[in-house]
Amino acid sequence: MREKLEALLTAAAAELAQVGSEESLQELRVKYLGKKGELTSVMKGLGSLTPEERPLVGQIVNKVKGELESKIEAASLQIRERLKAEKLRSERLDVTLPGRRQPVGTRHPISIITEEISGIFAGLGFQVAEGPEIEHDFYNFEALNFPKDHPARDMQDTFFISDTLLLRTHTSPVQVRTMLKQPPPVRIIAPGTVYRCDSDATHSPMFHQIEGLMVDKGITFGDLKGILTNFINQLFGSGTGVRLRPSFFPFTEPSAEVDIACVICKGKGCRVCKNTGWLEILGAGMVDPEVYRHVNYDAELYTGFAFGMGIERIAMLKYGISDMRLLFENDLRFLKQF
Ligand SMILES: [Zn+2]
Repeated sequence: MREKLEALLTAAAAELAQVGSEESLQELRVKYLGKKGELTSVMKGLGSLTPEERPLVGQIVNKVKGELESKIEAASLQIRERLKAEKLRSERLDVTLPGRRQPVGTRHPISIITEEISGIFAGLGFQVAEGPEIEHDFYNFEALNFPKDHPARDMQDTFFISDTLLLRTHTSPVQVRTMLKQPPPVRIIAPGTVYRCDSDATHSPMFHQIEGLMVDKGITFGDLKGILTNFINQLFGSGTGVRLRPSFFPFTEPSAEVDIACVICKGKGCRVCKNTGWLEILGAGMVDPEVYRHVNYDAELYTGFAFGMGIERIAMLKYGISDMRLLFENDLRFLKQF
């Protein structure tokens, strides 16, 4: 029986050396020490021994049992230590690795141009003014000398909200609001979103304008031309040709369309300038005395000029964009080029 017990201990020790996980260790524990385990079955044989042999063999059984238990406990500890070490190794952080970059967007060409234009006029002493996109008829038309039957008021052009409310069709109401709030001198630019019922390759129902107004004593048409020529040279490069043509706007008199020498063909004539060598970029003129009457400015004392341009058109000319809709589709492949 003693040999049997020693063989059992040797076999168990050999098996323990192979054990790699807590699960298989538990199986081994059941195999040797469980109720139906091998040691238990040996102990059942004690009954067949003589009374003299019994305590002696009993002692050996207890000793083997104790040894087995401590061996299993030691193996268990070893496994736990190993698992802990593995976990620490696998979860180690390398703080010297570079961080993961968050993808960032790019600035929209309309925003870039708006800021560039605003920056140029800021340098010329103009302040940025803003107004609401939902406007009263008074600020959008009435105070700007649009007669009641003016075609620009027509439903085809204007998004009306009610009889007196509409989506502003230009940024000019900001001029009216500014003049009603402060006495001259005024020197503002008003960039913003405007709305008209129109949509094709060169028109969008929502687009952007930037408007300017300068009012003071002794402002002349020469100041208008000087400021705009300076602006054009800063935006499109010094020496860019500038041409003024007579035009008409309800809120300026006299009025002019301002052309620049074609930025594509440098004035030689191409498809973009329709072979004229010139590109129309903005409208301007001396503020009509009728506008001053609506904002309580003394037309005998003050003169001034106003101008306005479409930001999309400037962006298209500056970046060579052929279809205005590209500016509103938000295609990342397009936007990332700026
Ligand atoms: Zn051209």
